[in-house]
Amino acid sequence: MSTLRFKAVEEASKRVPSEVTVPGLPSEYYGKSVFNRTQMEKYLSKETVKTILEAIDQGTTLHREIADHVAAGMKMWATEMGATHYTHWFQPLTEGTAEKHDSFIDYANGLHGGVIERFSGKLLAQQEPDASSFPSGGIRNTFEARGYTAWDPSSPAFIMDGTLCIPTVFISYTGEALDYKTPLLKALSAVDKAAVEVCKLFYPEVKKVYSFLGWEQEYFLVDQALYSARPDLILTERTLMGHESAKNQQLEDHYFGAIPPRVAAFMRELEIEAYKYGIPLKTRHNEVAPNQFELAPIFGETNLAVDQNLLVMTLMHKIAAKHHFKVLLHEKPFAGINGSGKHNNWSLATDTGIGLFTPGKTANENLLFVTILVNTLVAVYKYNSLLKASIMSANNAHRLGANEAPPAIISVFLGKQISAVLDKIEYSSEDDDITVDELKEMKLGISHIPEVLIDNTDRNRTSPFAFTGNRFEFRAVGSSANCSSAMTALNSVVAAQLIDFKKEIDTKMEKGMQKEEAIFDTLRLYIKASKPIRFEGNNYSEEWKEEAAKRGLDCETSVPLIYDAYTSPESVEMFESIGVLNEKELHARNEVKWETYTKKIQIEARVLGDLCMNHIIPVATEYQSMLLDNLFKMRAVFDKEKADKLSKEDAVLIEEIADHIAAIKSNVDAMVDARKVANKLEDAREKAVAYHDTVCSYFDIIRYHVDKLELIVDNQMWTLPKYRELLFIS
Ligand code: ADP
Ligand code: MG
Repeated sequence: MSTLRFKAVEEASKRVPSEVTVPGLPSEYYGKSVFNRTQMEKYLSKETVKTILEAIDQGTTLHREIADHVAAGMKMWATEMGATHYTHWFQPLTEGTAEKHDSFIDYANGLHGGVIERFSGKLLAQQEPDASSFPSGGIRNTFEARGYTAWDPSSPAFIMDGTLCIPTVFISYTGEALDYKTPLLKALSAVDKAAVEVCKLFYPEVKKVYSFLGWEQEYFLVDQALYSARPDLILTERTLMGHESAKNQQLEDHYFGAIPPRVAAFMRELEIEAYKYGIPLKTRHNEVAPNQFELAPIFGETNLAVDQNLLVMTLMHKIAAKHHFKVLLHEKPFAGINGSGKHNNWSLATDTGIGLFTPGKTANENLLFVTILVNTLVAVYKYNSLLKASIMSANNAHRLGANEAPPAIISVFLGKQISAVLDKIEYSSEDDDITVDELKEMKLGISHIPEVLIDNTDRNRTSPFAFTGNRFEFRAVGSSANCSSAMTALNSVVAAQLIDFKKEIDTKMEKGMQKEEAIFDTLRLYIKASKPIRFEGNNYSEEWKEEAAKRGLDCETSVPLIYDAYTSPESVEMFESIGVLNEKELHARNEVKWETYTKKIQIEARVLGDLCMNHIIPVATEYQSMLLDNLFKMRAVFDKEKADKLSKEDAVLIEEIADHIAAIKSNVDAMVDARKVANKLEDAREKAVAYHDTVCSYFDIIRYHVDKLELIVDNQMWTLPKYRELLFIS
């Protein structure tokens, strides 16, 4: 009898929802734990606030003096809030965030004068953490492990557990980016500049273009006790084995269903905490799979939205613990049911309030809308491999659930109306040109698009990159990912494309073409050229795979090879031309990606092997021996013929168990051998490829035999909590 599993089931079944103290209306405590504009106005001089806001808006450098003022104000606010420590909060190329706390205390007056709280502009602006253990892809050798963190004033500092956390970038001594934030900020600035130039063709007064992100975070909740009885969940965040539950998501009764009370309590507390950090959580609901849920805030500026997502992921883990849950952010914690994604709703808007993906009311607005949309199409088409690489990871490679976007091929869904508009532009000949007047007369039917799209009847849930009325939804992003990766790639490719477009228009106008004519002419060519990326059908169908390959879209499925897209000559050229990442950085980052991939698969392979040898085989053998015992006793009581007849079924099971055990053993041995061979490879890429091609391939076959044993072996003896327990107790 497996006591741990049954104790866990018992413990989980008895739980009641935890109490949640509601501090009042969200508007009363919203942003209480962040040093936002309201706090700045309270703790800083008018002049300082003005300078900071300018720096944020225009990207100007903040002088040391200003940093000193800000540090003083921040310290006052933080200490009043009970903070005793501060830290630079950054995003190394691992999962999650990093922090190293320092206390505010300092000697007041030499060694014997007691201590005071001190915090200076220098400490706020820059630090040198001993960060030799963070992955750098060879940019830093450990003996000169110098990495700097530098304050990002565009993301407000916040207090968590008594520590003032200051969002920062993380760069090497020689200036290379060692984190996710640095290239993101550069990409955002690139898309701003490039889009402003294009907007000025239509609206000369535009000075800035913002990139917006609204993420939707999917996750699973599992009872803490059950989780603790699953070593694979603890060490890999996913179940490496487990037979499908007889009931899972086939009744589709979980999606948008009533939220279970324990989960509702968790969500409520999470929202309260998020509001304190100024994170505007708006939506919460059950997702398709059992025990799967989603939350989403109101969208915001991309850099801040990324930080808020990271903060929410941290909060989720913390608050779940109070409710005796474990949050699983892994993209595919359970086989056979949906995985979790993090849809990235992305758009661009001007400082004058024009949404660049929002169909407009005037001809000028509509032409700008079509221009930005078509350029995005071209960018996604040209760099579909790169965008795929930007969302790919060992985890996300599993995510091919029935209602989620499959990540293996990037295509764009536009919907009927927008497609019709583009067709019309494409097929208009030069003498039958579409004119601005026609746009004005709304012959393209653009004017009624907003109303039509609002009801969302035209949405294609299988598309990895879909237009949804006023934005694009990049759905292939993984649930555990840092959104920066996808957002850096997307904003970069669109920036580079808009620069090309502007050049094209300028050249045509220099040759004497009218502005509108030049734009239509270019758009027509772009629409034709980018056609292969448009796909309105079912992305899951087998036909699509064939069709996509014919169209020349990237269909690679091996994660380590997908990363090559980052260092292709076109990608290097593109990233360098807009100053987001240089070749050295791109190569270094790929090294990190390959290493991470290898380590993840290596850990999974080890855990799988251990579980087979220490959990599965011993239990199966024990059950087999019970059956043998029975058979033996039968023979002692009855004559041989009768005994054999009576225990015929047992004999079959005994053999089946033996076969499965043998298959598990031999495959685990072979997997260990494959690992040994792969481990000898020095080159990070080669090693990752070997892990993908020769180690991963054992996972499914081993699991198959384990899952078969789960069905045979006495339920009382099985040690690992089963899918029906992990997924249905909450
Ligand atoms: P869905 O129906 O796709 O599940 P949700 O309401 O769960 O939609 O999430 C949609 C997300 O898109 C929200 O975060 C929302 O704020 C965001 N969003 C809406 N409009 C825009 C926009 N123009 N740009 C970026 N994000 C947006
Ligand atoms: Mg949603």
